[in-house]
Amino acid sequence: MKLLEGKNVIITGASRGIGTGIARVFAEHGANVAFTYSSSEAPALELEKELTEKGVKAKAYKSNAASFQESEVLVAKVLEDFGGIDVLINNAGITRDNLLMRMGEADFDAVIEINLKSVFNMTKAVQRTLLKQRKGSIINMSSVVGVKGNAGQANYAASKAGIIGFTKSIALELGSRNIRCNAIAPGFIETEMTEKLDEKTVQGWREGIPLKRGGTPEDIANACLFLASDMSSYITGHVLNVNGGMMT
Ligand code: NAP
Repeated sequence: MKLLEGKNVIITGASRGIGTGIARVFAEHGANVAFTYSSSEAPALELEKELTEKGVKAKAYKSNAASFQESEVLVAKVLEDFGGIDVLINNAGITRDNLLMRMGEADFDAVIEINLKSVFNMTKAVQRTLLKQRKGSIINMSSVVGVKGNAGQANYAASKAGIIGFTKSIALELGSRNIRCNAIAPGFIETEMTEKLDEKTVQGWREGIPLKRGGTPEDIANACLFLASDMSSYITGHVLNVNGGMMT
């Protein structure tokens, strides 16, 4: 059964990692996929081709999620190209890890702007469309770190905790118009973001996870599929942990 047949979806940051995983699973479920990247043009264009070959409409857009103006322009272009928007996935994110003692102001600001302000930018940009059609699903990518904190990631944890507060507020604001807003809190998902860690640390993470493995982009994509589809039509304001039992 295809759960998103004919739905139009925007995913931020899908040129690699979790975003690519979401785009693939959504296309397999019949969704038309508009997605963004920041600098990885070649993999983005490859993904656009791959998704199109699955028989759905797909398009890659270079757009900085941290920019309010670029987000507005992006949504206008997607509306023109796709004719509507049903689902928004705010997935773009970065890390600039350091202990507070060594964390510079630029590292704090970049993480807050790309991870948190982007969610405001994009949600605001799609709001009018979703309100008019009285239907929509917004999914924001938080993190286990946003729930429990992590030494060396104060900027990242603050951005991801901020996403949870934003998600719950938007769920309250837009619920009466049948617009749902949920967050996913992934645990340790093996992507380029986590490739920066040394193998010993990664092995330690895996051993500490009750399911004894890191997650895959598909694990997160499947949770997104559920929250995007009508299968979750009575769920809003929720933070779904997808972490192999790392935090319960
Ligand atoms: P990733 O492999 O580093 O991919 C990040 C994606 O975001 C890329 O497509 C990148 O585009 C895009 N991006 C970065 N800055 C952007 C900007 N300013 N505007 C638009 N797009 C931008 O990361 P990932 O592991 O897939 O993570 C995806 C999301 O899940 C992030 O929000 C992350 O915080 C969250 N998350 C990840 C984990 C994990 O363990 N991996 C755990 C919890 C939460 P370019 O390729 O063009 O740079």
